[in-house]
Amino acid sequence: MKRWQKSLQDNYGTPTLELISGKGSLVKASDGKTYLDFLAGIATNVLGHGHPAIVKAVTKQVSTLGHVSNFYAHPNVLELAETLQKMTGDKSARTFFCNSGAEANEAALKLSRKTGKIRIVATKDAFHGRTMGALSLTGQPSKRNPFKPLIRGIKHVPFGDSIAMKRAINKRTAMVIVEPIMGEAGVIVPPVDYLKNLRQYCDDNGALLVLDCVQTGMGRTGDWFGYEYSGIKPDVITLAKGLGGGLPLGAMIALGKASHLFEAGDHGSTFGGNPIATAAALAVIKSIEKEKILNNVNAISEYLLTEIALIEGVQEVRGAGLLIGATLDQPVAKKVVKRSQELGLLINAPGESIIRIAPALNISMKQAEKFVAIFTQAVKESKNV
Ligand code: PLP
Repeated sequence: MKRWQKSLQDNYGTPTLELISGKGSLVKASDGKTYLDFLAGIATNVLGHGHPAIVKAVTKQVSTLGHVSNFYAHPNVLELAETLQKMTGDKSARTFFCNSGAEANEAALKLSRKTGKIRIVATKDAFHGRTMGALSLTGQPSKRNPFKPLIRGIKHVPFGDSIAMKRAINKRTAMVIVEPIMGEAGVIVPPVDYLKNLRQYCDDNGALLVLDCVQTGMGRTGDWFGYEYSGIKPDVITLAKGLGGGLPLGAMIALGKASHLFEAGDHGSTFGGNPIATAAALAVIKSIEKEKILNNVNAISEYLLTEIALIEGVQEVRGAGLLIGATLDQPVAKKVVKRSQELGLLINAPGESIIRIAPALNISMKQAEKFVAIFTQAVKESKNV
């Protein structure tokens, strides 16, 4: 930890644990202990650690062709873009690849400028990333304030409030961006008709509807993309996290008219669509399909939502699939995280009273049962008396 403080920026604070290796949903740390990983790199290691299909694909690719510039095509980038197109169910879908969620949202923001309009509506408390464009979309004052002035013309309205959105969107709106479920804000699920209403308001005003599926995509909610339950089709989908299964990869997928807004020279990224990262993504998608992992997400989700709700000290359980938030009846979430870690479980507290779990999508029922046992004990032992 002293080495960290001496050589790394303080932007994350100092971590309490150094992880050395991982297999599936178990990680080993330099303290010699093994931990049950219920955070999976914050919804990123969708197949857990060291999945054989990712290891094989990446190993083969790195020894075949490690990197090309974007002057050249390569088989993986083509196959992945075509696969994502199929997953959206829309033949017009065209993808721009980048390396992170922030970059995917930056790309969406730049794409919206090509409509000729500059006004944007986003939501309070939303998280869309930390680069200056993505941060301008992010609706969390604590993250924004030190870096003002940010991009102007972006209005933030309360999440889940269709009326506030209707008032904010007009003919001058270039784009509206929301997370299907807010992740970093503490797993907040909007009313069931929210996305449908947003689709209507955007259509009425010629605005692009951008759905940030960085945290809710790639099977996290039991569907490929976190918005699918709504039945709508967005104009833009942004992805990252689970897409590369642990390798850095982001994507901005534009559909319909939006898919032709970017022209040659408008945007780019040296590593975007890199052969190794795209090899990993293809392995992720094929494994999710082959191992019927979306069925597992739904089965384990049902178990966890039921069991967590029964734990004394838990007030509310929310989320979808394997993105689950549990609010506690006392503001002891940080204590619960610490106690869980002592008991061999990794989870996270996005707020004083909220715990988030986002394990690998191939987590086993036995591991889910172990989570419930440790979490129950941690909540019990963390309560203020
Ligand atoms: N959008 C959402 C919904 C996220 O949850 C995150 C990260 O947590 C981001 C964007 C930013 O992604 P990245 O950290 O890869 O830039």
